[in-house]
Amino acid sequence: MFTDYVKIHVSAGKGGNGAISFRREKYVAAGGPDGGDGGRGGDVYFKVDNDTNTLIDFRYKKKFKAENGENGQGARKYGKSAEDLYISVPIGTIIKDASTNEVLADLSEKEQTVLILKGGRGGLGNSHFATPTRQAPRFAEDGEKGEEKELILELKLLADVGLIGFPNVGKSTFLSTVTSANPKIANYHFTTIDPNLGVIKSKYGDSFVIADIPGIIEGASDGVGLGIQFLRHIERTRVLLHFIDVSGSEGRNPVDDYKTINNELKQYSEKLSKRIQIIVANKTDILQDNTNFAELEKLAKKNKQQLFKISAATGEGIDELMTYVSETLKTLPKENLIEINSNDTKKIYTLETKKKFTVTREGKIFVVQGEDIENIMRRVNVADYESLFYLHRKLDEIGLNKALKKAGVKDGDTVRLIDYEMTWED
Ligand code: GDP
Ligand code: MG
Repeated sequence: MFTDYVKIHVSAGKGGNGAISFRREKYVAAGGPDGGDGGRGGDVYFKVDNDTNTLIDFRYKKKFKAENGENGQGARKYGKSAEDLYISVPIGTIIKDASTNEVLADLSEKEQTVLILKGGRGGLGNSHFATPTRQAPRFAEDGEKGEEKELILELKLLADVGLIGFPNVGKSTFLSTVTSANPKIANYHFTTIDPNLGVIKSKYGDSFVIADIPGIIEGASDGVGLGIQFLRHIERTRVLLHFIDVSGSEGRNPVDDYKTINNELKQYSEKLSKRIQIIVANKTDILQDNTNFAELEKLAKKNKQQLFKISAATGEGIDELMTYVSETLKTLPKENLIEINSNDTKKIYTLETKKKFTVTREGKIFVVQGEDIENIMRRVNVADYESLFYLHRKLDEIGLNKALKKAGVKDGDTVRLIDYEMTWED
């Protein structure tokens, strides 16, 4: 397995400051303190996004910050809590604290979401600090700083595209050609992670992984040489690029090469031999006699395979080939077969696992209690439309809606969350 690795800097939002303010009423010279609390700073979550399969985006953006909470205001007006920041990563990503190397999370399930950094608590407004002896407190709390960390993201990569073919047909050259800043392929950002592996970000925005699989030679399927290990690796690829030296520069016949490699694949795995294969006729820059190429073209056509003429040396034809590969990948399902080493990893803060609330009935009212609910309610200003929206999303996230439905809640019923009552709508 190959590993993709990036280091990023992430900070949660600061809490808003509490306000210092005094009530102003008609006929009252100086009212009591009414400074509202600051809003909570945004938390930072990491979330599995099934549509990405590499960490390539993090090579261009390395700093992430959640929003700060708003400051409190007079008239006990709460500052708005900040939206949480969700950072999308591919399934199989392991998140480590860069300073300790501790594994913070192992995102191995679809749609999994983990809280990694807590936003700062909002500061209390001065309305909280009035006492019989101190009726006009002229101070309020500042919001807490959000957590901040250097994180390492690690992903075991699966190759989407495997390069196969005889030795010396140009596979490595092809990989290094797409790596270099060739203007013809400038639309592809390419990162070499391993001499045999590259990550490509196509101009369509999606990224994919190409693995050069050396050593498919006669006998590989019997376990001779390096071949067998790499054959295992390509079992998981979705597309094979079959490289052929169409110039026959080493004295072999390209058509024979094509047949030999396919035979080899078939012996190793029937399934693999049926994988989509794109034929890459390489070294066209030194092609002298077109006969072999014409024959190869016929064969590819017969087997309903696309054939591309390229020169890995000059870059000719590579853009067309890559565009086709990218388009083809889009039509093929991802397997998400990520190897996870779960021995030295532990999961934390998984929102989906534990239900920290209970639903009971008091007459017609559904009463929800629990630590999670209290935590959420404490952060939300229910008088504010956006906060309410946030509240509903949060409640859904921790599985409350499901639990209420299970408890038999119906349209029009009353649901009590701590001291807030709402009417259930189906
Ligand atoms: P691999 O074993 O399949 O990885 O092949 P390499 O990439 O190592 O290439 C083998 C040899 O072929 C090297 O000397 C390359 O310079 C040469 N080669 C690769 N691609 C081309 C090409 O498009 N045109 C020409 N003329 N030579 C090439
Ligand atoms: Mg090579």
